[in-house]
Order: sequence, then structure tokens, then C-alpha cells
Amino acid sequence: MNWFEQKILGLFVKTKGKLSARILAGQGLIFMLHRVLPENEREKYTLNRDLAITPEKLEEYILFFKQHDYHFISLDELSDWLDGKIKLNKKIVCLTFDDGYRDNLIHGLPILKKHQVPATIYVTNCLPNGTGLLWWYYFEEFANKANRLILDSSIRKVEFCWKDSNDAFSQFQQVSEAIKSIPSIELRHVLKSSFGLTDEEMEKHCREISLTWDEIKVLSDETMINIGAHTMNHVSVKQQESELVKVEMLNSKLEIESKIGKKVAHFAYPFGGEFDVCERDIKIASSLGFKTSTLNQPGNIFKTNKSRKQALARMPLGNRTEAERMNNYMNGIYHFSVNGFKKEKYS
Ligand SMILES: [Zn+2]
Repeated sequence: MNWFEQKILGLFVKTKGKLSARILAGQGLIFMLHRVLPENEREKYTLNRDLAITPEKLEEYILFFKQHDYHFISLDELSDWLDGKIKLNKKIVCLTFDDGYRDNLIHGLPILKKHQVPATIYVTNCLPNGTGLLWWYYFEEFANKANRLILDSSIRKVEFCWKDSNDAFSQFQQVSEAIKSIPSIELRHVLKSSFGLTDEEMEKHCREISLTWDEIKVLSDETMINIGAHTMNHVSVKQQESELVKVEMLNSKLEIESKIGKKVAHFAYPFGGEFDVCERDIKIASSLGFKTSTLNQPGNIFKTNKSRKQALARMPLGNRTEAERMNNYMNGIYHFSVNGFKKEKYS
């Protein structure tokens, strides 16, 4: 942030978000969530704790937005509004849950039903297929019992060392980028040898926390739940060859459609950050006919995003999202602190 932007930010804060809201609140927000777990299960994790929100907190946020006169809408409605097919007379919130964890059904659905809140669950097919390589969990467990990780693939060999688990977790971003860069065809083999896991152990772990196809069908049959696609194998698409990206996106959509008997119209890029998505991928998503595709890059939603429906920003939402942050999401201060005045950062 440059000197000028610092001054503007100061002004926005001083005017308590009233000024920024006029320019940068937009129509509202899309939130990105993953798991919904009671606190006693959530607290078993350290590195991955914030991947889960408690049911109580989810309910608290829903009530918070309702109290602020926000309207919860589906991504279909958001898409229609962006296309000018419908009007919205209130600010809006869309909820999205990534990956396809079983807790979405057990702990999330009851809250969504209770408050009649629509949501999209983006399923990465490897989860219900039992082939998911959920390395963010492998790494958390491994960091507690080892001091060194070697990732040896055809592109390079990298080594990470740590003193204790906190030291390991502080290197998670570098570890993530190293793993996401491994050609997807080699990933299973590399992870098995790096983390000392067997195929059976990986499948067992995957099946324990993932929705089954039957459960996905149950969710899909709920009127307020929309099932979206999230690639076959949860790959960082930017790091892969174009042909593979197309196959990952298209096959994910087709397989889900065949399982739920409905069209899949929405997509989320796995990981979804600047390291993971590029313009080529946005074009591919568009060519496959998705109505919307979402990123993991923060920002508010504006009418002008019509031209960027395959690259919509999403705000993270977790147990530790405080009231001040929530206000700054709504009034555009947070948007400004990340994107400045740009309403489509991702070009
Ligand atoms: Zn994901």
C-alpha cells in the first residue's frame, strides 16, 4: 500500500466506514467456508483448526447478517443479478463450502435449514471417490512426529526442517507451494514416500471426513443446497498443463451431474489464490459453461463483476472472524486494504 492509499485508508477508518461504504461496499459478499465442526472436534487440530467453523458461530454470523438487513441468496440468483435478469433491493450474502466434508451435512445443513439460508457446496470428486490426497492434514500430523520433510519429484527435490510443530506450521505456505507444484500424476507416489503413508491409510482418512455420493445426493435434494464442482483431484490448476486443467474441471462437473441428476453450474478453483489461478484457467472455466467461478481472494461483489463471473472474489469466514473485521467486510474497508479501489483485481 503506497502513501496515498495509506492516507485514504486512514480517512475511511476515521469516517467509520461511511465513506468507504458508498464506494466499495458493492452489493455484498460471497463467503468461503470449509468444515463445520463442534469445538471439541475442531480443537483437535492446530494447523487446520481454522478450516472449520463451529455450528454456533455459523448461526451467529447468519443472525448477524439478518440483523443488518442482508439477504442470503444462492449463486444462481447472484448470477442472474449480475446478468441483469433480476433486481436486488437489499445487500446480499452468498455462503459457499469447499471440498465436500461430511460435517457439512451433519453440522452445517441443520443450521442452514433452520434459517432458510441457501448455500453452495463445491465437491472435489476425489473426496467421495475415496482417492483424495488431503495433504494439509498429513502435514499437520507429520509435523508433530518428525522434524524433516523431503519432497522428491521429477521436477525437483526440496527439503524442509523444523524444530517443533509451530516452526513446521510457520513454513506451511512454502510446503504447500512445493506440493502444489508437483505434477499431479506423481503426487500420490511422492506423498506416500514423503509422509510414510500407505494407500489404505490415505483412503481411510479420506473416507472418514468426506461426504459419500449418497450423502451428496441427499444434500442436493435439499432446495437450499446447490452442489458445485471443484476439480476431480483438488489440483492447483495454474500449476498444471492446459489439457489437464480442462479434464479436471469438465470431468468433475460431469461426474457430479451423473450422481445428483442435476446440472452443475458453479465452480471454485482449488486453493484459489494467485499461485493457483491464472487467466488461462478463467477462460477454461468460461468455456465449460459455468455460470460462476469463485476464487480464494478477498473482495466485495460489484455489479461490474458481470464481466468477471468466472473470477469472483470470496471473503474467508471462520471462528476467529471478529465483529470489527465483519464490519470492515461490509463497509468495504477490508476490500480497500487488499485491493485498493480496484473492483476486479484479478486481470
Ligand atoms: Zn478446496
